[in-house]
Amino acid sequence: QDGMNAQELGKLLHREPAEIVKKLFMLGVMVNQNQSLDKDTIEILAADYGIEAKEKVHEDLSDLDKIFEKEMKNTDHLVSRPPVVTIMGHVDHGKTTLLDHLRHSHITAGEAGGITQAIGAYQVRHGDNQITFLDTPGHAAFTEMRARGANITDITILVVAADDGVMPQTIEAINHAKAAKTPIIVAINKIDKPDANPQHVTDQLMQYGLVPEKLGGDTIFVNISAKFGKNIDELLDMIILEAEVMELKADPDQPAAGSVIEARLDQGKGPVATLLVQQGTLHVGDPIVAGHTFGRVRTMTNERGREVKKATPSSPVSITGLNEVPEAGDRYVVFDDEKTARSVGEERAKEAQVEERRKTTRVTLDSLFDSL
Ligand code: GDP
Ligand code: MG
Repeated sequence: QDGMNAQELGKLLHREPAEIVKKLFMLGVMVNQNQSLDKDTIEILAADYGIEAKEKVHEDLSDLDKIFEKEMKNTDHLVSRPPVVTIMGHVDHGKTTLLDHLRHSHITAGEAGGITQAIGAYQVRHGDNQITFLDTPGHAAFTEMRARGANITDITILVVAADDGVMPQTIEAINHAKAAKTPIIVAINKIDKPDANPQHVTDQLMQYGLVPEKLGGDTIFVNISAKFGKNIDELLDMIILEAEVMELKADPDQPAAGSVIEARLDQGKGPVATLLVQQGTLHVGDPIVAGHTFGRVRTMTNERGREVKKATPSSPVSITGLNEVPEAGDRYVVFDDEKTARSVGEERAKEAQVEERRKTTRVTLDSLFDSL
């Protein structure tokens, strides 16, 4: 930690820089906040705080969840952010059709003709508003993410086919949304079909506590046809309305923090990860730790494959520059300098290895006992 100044040290130790300077003064070292300190001074100071500087610093910094939570609570300069929406529902009820329709008909202004990349999320423009859609492949990934504490969805769109009604995965989706405490907007789909019976679907959903506003409840229902693009604008209006009620905000001036939506290894580019920015602004060049991986954001592209230099709250971007492939649902945090990012990343990779070994050992022991 050689060369750090009181300001940086204060940040690491969660102390005011002024307190550090004062403490140093008491120890007979006269510095200002920006003057870099030598190793001995830092150690003396750390000893005075009664801790092993390095270890404490590491322990604090390698707890990404804690840093993430702290970042999320930063409220210096809050501005509205677009809602992050997940589309759920029973198989064949029209999720993919709806996502495809949105992707092709509501692309961000000025980017018409761009080829949509499969990056697991994208933003659409609706009037003056943006909406981020997560294109999560099925419920499994969503469940997995939530199980790992990465609750990244603001609003769930529950797609129910008007000719099929409530089915097992419909109920599963309702339960997920309830557990995650995200509001549900019901999209009754396929209303173009002759045997569509939206009233029946509504009656069924009411048994699960989803009561339309006109019947005294607080759930928004929209009848749509994803295939023919009917009432999609109404659906988007309702998403914006719900988002306004929720007063979704973030501080774009912070260093970025958020979650990994998906990641893979690209033959040419190395690890490629889709990140959702949940707090702050992510920049090309930012030192970053994502799950057990670390690096510097080398390139950043949006869902149109267009290079971007920065990404603001609620935007999804695909980045390169990580040393390994992180996992979907991993948290990521941007650090001030690459050195810290590297050491935190390495520390976390080590912890993960130990954990992995412990698990394997346990499994081996279990099977050993089983075979006895
Ligand atoms: P998913 O499994 O929920 O992703 O469902 P898909 O989007 O793959 O749709 C399943 C089938 O329903 C496909 O054949 C779609 O063309 C059809 N479909 C989806 N939405 C509509 C709709 O609004 N009207 C009609 N008639 N068919 C639809
Ligand atoms: Mg599908």
